Amino acid sequence: MLYTLNKTTRSIPNFADSLKRAISGNILSHDEIVSLVQTGNKVEIEALHEAAGKRTKEIFGNEVSIRGIVEFSNHCEKSCHYCGVPTYDEKFLIPHESILECCDFMWEKGYRNVVLQSGEITSESRMNWISSLIRKVFDKFGNEKDKGMCIVLSIGELSFEQYKRFYDMGVQRYLLRVESSNPDLYHSMHPPDHLWSNRVDCLNNLKKIGYVAGTGCMIGVPKQTYDDVASDIEFFRDGQYPMIGLGPYIIHKDTVMGKKLLNSTSKSERDEADLLKTQITLNVYNAIRLVSPLVNIAATTALETLSPGSKAKALLGGANVLMPIITPKVFRTGYQIYEGKKEVDMDREDTHNRVLELMKEIGKVARFNKWNHPPLYEKLYPNYANRMK
Ligand code: SAH
Repeated sequence: MLYTLNKTTRSIPNFADSLKRAISGNILSHDEIVSLVQTGNKVEIEALHEAAGKRTKEIFGNEVSIRGIVEFSNHCEKSCHYCGVPTYDEKFLIPHESILECCDFMWEKGYRNVVLQSGEITSESRMNWISSLIRKVFDKFGNEKDKGMCIVLSIGELSFEQYKRFYDMGVQRYLLRVESSNPDLYHSMHPPDHLWSNRVDCLNNLKKIGYVAGTGCMIGVPKQTYDDVASDIEFFRDGQYPMIGLGPYIIHKDTVMGKKLLNSTSKSERDEADLLKTQITLNVYNAIRLVSPLVNIAATTALETLSPGSKAKALLGGANVLMPIITPKVFRTGYQIYEGKKEVDMDREDTHNRVLELMKEIGKVARFNKWNHPPLYEKLYPNYANRMK
């Protein structure tokens, strides 16, 4: 038994039947989703990958959407058991001027989406700091759809009023992973005062306010089952989240979860789990593309970290978004969510060039100069999508 993702012992539908039903656009049952994601059979994995790649191509052509991410601070009020961000003694908050410089770099290259991510700080002074940053970005680049800069926030759980404040300033998107749709698993990954119900309330508030809301989870956390993973996919589908970001869980040695795993498992068990997590993450991208075709799915840095080359594989399957890290090099080491994070020693020019090379390698094109709202969002909220015009 591995510490995660052990195959279910009950009888589940046949993979080929589930795939056929998914390709024909049927709404899959929980167990059908399990049968897709848990396969370890090479032929089945390839069939799932091909079907998802075909669907991705039908919807997005050969285009991959690019969003630059700036991880602007590692200060955090939370202490999630898996996350390395709060473990660094040296804290940083990148000055506005430096973030604006990152935006200049992106703008020049044609990026029209900037993801601003950080640890979670909810104080009034931080809210004012963020507001002032948003104002400066919009003053400089505008916020008209496709013509200006789209700001995507990823700064954790805030109150309804705090979310509303940024939305009213013109911020359109927000990323907040549910981490797990199973409250028990969620609570096993967090201290007792980090409540699953609050996480879900936040996601509902984001949607209610009108944000393009993104969510996601980690694959391969201790005790996670394929039922959990299938329920996550149902949570994304039924909650109509138009953006999905998910990747494998990777150990960080200074975290509660990391320490526990390093003590209780052997190196070979961890290596075996890592291989499995990579494969299942790819299966999950592919299953989501078939289950919720119109969503944006990001090929994450965590996946590439665990298995170099997998980002390319993901983009040939269900994924259609890349989020290169544009954080200035000097700040990258203090924001290692997990160990061995890719691109820590690169500067933004290298990172950007790597994106262009990757596109060439896989025969895709980077879609610049457009916001590329997820098609599901445009479909659900045709009036919202243009609201800044
Ligand atoms: N404070 C923000 C940003 C968190 S970091 C927020 O709460 O949304 C972004 C994501 O990284 C997290 O949501 C989590 O899913 C992922 N992450 C954290 N630790 C990780 C680890 N050890 N391995 C892989 N992914 C991790």
